[in-house]
Amino acid sequence: MVQEYEVIIIGGGPAGLSAGIFVARQKVSCLLISKDLGGQLNLIPKLENYPGTIMSSGPLLAKTLENQFLMFGGEMSYDTVERVDETEAGLTVKTLRAEYKAKALVVAPGKVPNNLGVENESNFVNKGVHYCTKCDAPFYQGRVTAVIGVGAYLLESGILLSRMASKIYLIYKGGALGGDKEMISAIEKKENIELIPQSSVKALTGANNLQSITIVDNSGQEKVVNVDGLFIEMGSKINLEFIKHLVKINSKSEIETTIEGKTSHPAIFAAGDASSIPYKQIVAACSGGATAGLSAFNYVEKLKGKPGIRADWKKTIGDTVFHY
Ligand SMILES: Cc1cc2nc3c(=O)[nH]c(=O)nc-3n(C[C@H](O)[C@H](O)[C@H](O)COP(=O)(O)OP(=O)(O)OC[C@H]3O[C@@H](n4cnc5c(N)ncnc54)[C@H](O)[C@@H]3O)c2cc1C
Repeated sequence: MVQEYEVIIIGGGPAGLSAGIFVARQKVSCLLISKDLGGQLNLIPKLENYPGTIMSSGPLLAKTLENQFLMFGGEMSYDTVERVDETEAGLTVKTLRAEYKAKALVVAPGKVPNNLGVENESNFVNKGVHYCTKCDAPFYQGRVTAVIGVGAYLLESGILLSRMASKIYLIYKGGALGGDKEMISAIEKKENIELIPQSSVKALTGANNLQSITIVDNSGQEKVVNVDGLFIEMGSKINLEFIKHLVKINSKSEIETTIEGKTSHPAIFAAGDASSIPYKQIVAACSGGATAGLSAFNYVEKLKGKPGIRADWKKTIGDTVFHY
């Protein structure tokens, strides 16, 4: 039997879980489908910049958000969404194991950072190897780092690290840095950045934490450099195969999303890293999730002829201005 929900949320990262909390708390039926709990939060053992928490971790935040969602009556299914279709009866969501119907969807499938592809890379994740410079550079104050990457990711990473680390090896495949001229010029002026063109990283070494990397250049010449951290900035994958025929996707492969979490489809809302909302950080994902969740709730209430929750508004009665 096809189960029906008023709102289905796709993705159990901070965006999807926050959407779930805001939908379930309004007492409409809500199912959250996700491959796993937490998404990228599972890559953050030490979380420093989520407001309101000092000593936290990504997995702890994920578990707390899940408990909050379940406490408000939301339902959770660990499954993979394979396709969403539109029928006369509404939206159908096909997963690996089941099929559901929904009046509205919040899509929050996030993204997955690309690996370097070096053997034993996974052994050093968060033990010297990092995939998000803007998140983890502050852990490397006064330490020696390297960054390998592509395009704007590499340039931004180099600039961020140059404010924190004592030394940065900036490693790239091409002969010259490509991208924004101002960023390139800023990098070239930094005394603590050493450019290593036409090169890649061949091996990672360390007893427990990363201690050194082997750099190989295009002629096959190798050199080992000692580093405390290696930042891998090779971009991320966003997989929207299951929904791309229903919503507008922008040139960055994200779902085009308004500040209210609306997409080009009236019944589909989006949030988090897979949406076009800027600053891909947890607090932004939670905020986007809450907004998209409330917009989805308003959409289903409107279908029932109910007013829903108003977005901010202002009214003047006599001399007094009321803001809501
Ligand atoms: C290494 C690393 C460190 C970071 N550190 C920080 C930090 O310190 N502070 C900070 O603010 N931000 C940090 N970030 C960024 C932050 O993690 C992301 O911005 C945030 O997790 C995005 O949330 P999201 O819910 O949009 O997506 P995600 O966290 O990617 O979650 C998406 C969820 O959707 C699920 N999903 C995807 N496709 C499907 C499908 N077809 N069917 C079912 N489920 C699906 C996934 O399994 C996952 O559970 C870091 C990112 C990385 C990679």
